[in-house]
Amino acid sequence: MNFNNVEFVKSGATMEGLPPASMPEIAFAGKSNVGKSSVINRILNRKNFARVGEAPGKTTHANYFNVDKKCYFVDLPGYGYAKVPMSEKQRWGRLMEAYFASGRITLGILIVDARHAPTNNDIVMADYFIQTGCPFIVVANKLDKLKKSVIESNLETIREDLDLPEGCPVIPFSAEKGTGRDELVRYIIAAVKSEKS
Ligand code: GDP
Repeated sequence: MNFNNVEFVKSGATMEGLPPASMPEIAFAGKSNVGKSSVINRILNRKNFARVGEAPGKTTHANYFNVDKKCYFVDLPGYGYAKVPMSEKQRWGRLMEAYFASGRITLGILIVDARHAPTNNDIVMADYFIQTGCPFIVVANKLDKLKKSVIESNLETIREDLDLPEGCPVIPFSAEKGTGRDELVRYIIAAVKSEKS
């Protein structure tokens, strides 16, 4: 799969606004500012493809990218930004519930902050994946900001707090340095291939 061959398709705030389900979908979820755009850019070898540093919580849209005509990358709206009005949070919740229930997700990628214990919203998001039986992996981003001595225990806390099913990988990652990119890419390629066969 050529990750350099990517184009923005559209962004939608409701299920009707999403493109027809025609390819495997790799869905990226994470709280605002966790580095979701940076992780996507790192996979795509781009600097500014998915927008970095957007006002947190500004959008409740899912952004669709066509990657090499083989799969969609779906940048789900970031969550957990306190200043978002309740009406917008509810809109976000409706889109998430409908999207997860749709069965469209080939592989979910839940991005958390490697430095901290997961937030309540992270736990809710992991539970969406678990309850819908959707295969997912966890990316522990911003690893470069972590002392080596605490990496193992932080990863363990993430696994425990999110109550991850056995076999659900937690990938130590740095969008900044590129750590973990190759491993994440392998999971994505394997998921896209298995969906086709
Ligand atoms: P998003 O809101 O989840 O899309 O987050 P962004 O990708 O916009 O990143 C939020 C901030 O975190 C930006 O200032 C990024 O430069 C920074 N950031 C993202 N990933 C990393 C990382 O792996 N290491 C470090 N040190 N900073 C990161």
